[in-house]
Amino acid sequence: METLLVRAGMEKDNTTGAISTPIYQSATFQHPELGESTGYDYSRTANPTRTALEEAIASLEGGTKGFAFSSGMAAITTVLFLFKPGDHLVVSEDLYGGTYRLLTQVFHEFGITASFVDTSCIENVEAAICSETKALLIETPTNPLMKITDLRRIADVAKTHDLLLIVDNTFMTPYLQQPLALGADITLHSATKYLGGHNDTVAGLVAVREEELGERIGLLQNACGSILGPQDSWLILRGIKTLAIRLEKQQQNALALARWLQKHPEVEAVHYPGLPEHSGHHLAGKQASGFGAMLSFSVRNPQLVPHLLKNVKIITFAESLGGVESLITFPARQTHADIPEEAREQLGITDRLLRLSVGIENIDDLLTDLEEALRC
Ligand code: PLP
Repeated sequence: METLLVRAGMEKDNTTGAISTPIYQSATFQHPELGESTGYDYSRTANPTRTALEEAIASLEGGTKGFAFSSGMAAITTVLFLFKPGDHLVVSEDLYGGTYRLLTQVFHEFGITASFVDTSCIENVEAAICSETKALLIETPTNPLMKITDLRRIADVAKTHDLLLIVDNTFMTPYLQQPLALGADITLHSATKYLGGHNDTVAGLVAVREEELGERIGLLQNACGSILGPQDSWLILRGIKTLAIRLEKQQQNALALARWLQKHPEVEAVHYPGLPEHSGHHLAGKQASGFGAMLSFSVRNPQLVPHLLKNVKIITFAESLGGVESLITFPARQTHADIPEEAREQLGITDRLLRLSVGIENIDDLLTDLEEALRC
C-alpha cells in the first residue's frame, strides 16, 4: 500500500518521462482524423491528469473504476443520482451534516427518502429496510461520534436484500480501510481531507467494485459534469503520495491526545476507536489496519467551549479535517448545524461536544496547547 500510494499517477507521460503527472490544462483535444480519438476529446468527459487520479483511487480502493469530482458533496450527489423517485435509503444517523442536508433538503424533494439509524447496530439496519429500499449509505467511524459499523455484516445484509452498499471512507482512507474488499459496492471520499492532506484543495473521489456500476457512474459524471479540474487533480495526486507517513504520525498523536483527554478533570467523555474502552475498538481493529486520527470529546461545562475555541493557539478553530494541521470544530454549530437540535441532542451531538482532527505537529506542543486552552 505504501508503494502504491507513492507511485500514484506515475508513468503517465511516455513522451518526456516526467515523474510528476503533467497538468493537462486543456479543455479540448485535437482529433487525429474523422472518427479517431486519442482517448481524450473534451475534459468534462476525460482529462489525462484526472484519469491518473481516477486510476489511482480505483487501484488504492481495490475497485474496477475510479471517478474524481469537484467536491466530496459532488461525488455523493452524483452517486445519489443512481436512484429514482420512490427509492429509499438506510443511512448512518450521525454522518456528515452536509450529507444529511443533501438527503433531507434536496433529494427528498425529488422523492428519494432516507431513514437515519444507528448502523453500528445491524438489527436497526434490518428493521429500517422496506420494499422501496435500494441502498445502505454509511460512514464508519461515524462523524462526529466515532461509532463503528461492522462492514462484513452490513455487506451481508445488503447482499441478502439486494441493496447497494455505499461507504463514505473519508475518515479512514484506503490506507487504513478498504470497504470494497469487505463487500461494499461503492466507496467515496471527500478528498479534501486526508487524501489531499494539506487543507488546500476541495475534491471528491469515488471507486466502484463492479464494472457495470462504474459505467453507470461514468455516464452520470459526464452528464452532470461536476468533475475535478486538472490542477486540483494534480494536488490530490501529490497529497496521496505522503498519505501513509502522514496518517501514521497523525494516529500516533491522536492516541496520545485521547489518552491525555481521558484523564482531564474538565473532560466528561472521549470518543476515539483506538482507546480500548471504546465500544467499537475490537471491531475497528478487525476491519481496519488503524484507528485514524479523528476524535471527539465532551467537556463537562458548556461554557468551556467558547473559552477553549478562543484560546487554542496551535490547534486551529476551523471546519474540515484530515490535513497536516490540527483543527478543532464545534459540530453542533458547524458541520452538523443542519440536523434539527432535538435530533442532534438525541444523537449526542451536544453543545459540549468538540471534534479534533489531529495533525502532524509535535505532540508536546499539542498537549500544552490543549492544557492551556482548557484552563478556566
Ligand atoms: N463526507 C465526509 C465524511 C465529510 O467530512 C465531508 C466534509 O466535511 C464530506 C463528505 C463532504 O466533502 P466536501 O467538503 O469535500 O464536499
